[in-house]
Amino acid sequence: MRDEEVRSMYFKYFQEEQLPFIQCGKCGHKFFYPRVVCPKCGSSDIKIGLSEGLGKIFAMTRIYKKDGSYVVYGIVEMNEGFRMYANIVEENGNTADIGKKVKVIFREINGKKYPLFAVT
Ligand SMILES: [Zn+2]
Repeated sequence: MRDEEVRSMYFKYFQEEQLPFIQCGKCGHKFFYPRVVCPKCGSSDIKIGLSEGLGKIFAMTRIYKKDGSYVVYGIVEMNEGFRMYANIVEENGNTADIGKKVKVIFREINGKKYPLFAVT
């Protein structure tokens, strides 16, 4: 697989509201960032898996804007064992904090869907 192939496959999954990740066929390492070589062992024996979309907040930060509103960014650790950097949304009065459970949701930006996380 080439870089663009992996990225376009990711993008296709996003439009179907599915969250892909990559598993290394050699060392078993799982990662989200779409690339064709395992960052741990350097193997190009990789395959794409699909996440159930559930995880917990590993690290996070609130970025405040001038008007007092803020956005939450964090690193989410998925149940499958990989971590990804993402935007976290607080819905229904659920506040984001380290260790809190999240689930993937998809939001349309300029007509295309992208994954982010809602606190559950
Ligand atoms: Zn590997």
